[in-house]
Amino acid sequence: MAPTDENLPSASDIERFDPCAAARPAAPAQPTVSDRKPPTAASEIGWGLVSTAILAAWLGWQWGWVFAAAGVLGVLVHELGHLAAINSLGCGPGRIHVIPFFGGAASMARAPDTEFKGVLIALAGPVAGLAATAPFYLLYANGGDRIWLQGVLFIGGMNLLNLAPVPPLDGAKALGPALAWLHPNVERAVMILLGGIGVYWAVSHGQFLIAVVIGLSLAQALRGRAFRVPALRLTALQWAVSMGLWVGAVVLCGSVTWSALAPNT
Ligand SMILES: [Zn+2]
Repeated sequence: MAPTDENLPSASDIERFDPCAAARPAAPAQPTVSDRKPPTAASEIGWGLVSTAILAAWLGWQWGWVFAAAGVLGVLVHELGHLAAINSLGCGPGRIHVIPFFGGAASMARAPDTEFKGVLIALAGPVAGLAATAPFYLLYANGGDRIWLQGVLFIGGMNLLNLAPVPPLDGAKALGPALAWLHPNVERAVMILLGGIGVYWAVSHGQFLIAVVIGLSLAQALRGRAFRVPALRLTALQWAVSMGLWVGAVVLCGSVTWSALAPNT
């Protein structure tokens, strides 16, 4: 893991523990560590396959094979959504990393120069990620076996949860700039409050890994470090659009999740 700029969030720590949230700039190239060889394409593909297999096996062991298939496909399509936004907004080339037990992460070569681009990149994952429900809907429509709705539930729920403004989730990056636009302390207070609730929920449900993930980000917030790489602030119009897009994404992900839960779908 390359050392990072002191001004950046401690990516070396969180990158490892990122539950799919993290569309963030890759660590800037450090001339002092230039002897570090870049991974070859073969080793990257190999590691990608191994980590995908570990993720699938873990999901399958925890919840069954439909969840495993939904988890792997859901993470992939979600990260592809981030990747498309990263590349089309001039922050690329982006890269996808599969993280066993936690999902995935998309990294980008350049940090967004405006907060609004960061919002769009953050929301692209959960919204595009819903496309992964299509094969599960089709399989359900083709025979009516409700087991396929588990895939829809998992993908919808995963993207919905990801929109919570809790670091390091996408919601923190999507809503953070709008909250900070009101006052930087509003963003910090919301993240600390919801992060605290998240840690409490995770611990009380025995989800200690999730508690550690949120706790690490929360510690960063409590230490007063920046959540995001500084960028041009939102204009009033961009603030309104950001809020609207976040609410729209929540409604969309919520509707998909609900469609899998509703009786007689
Ligand atoms: Zn994401």
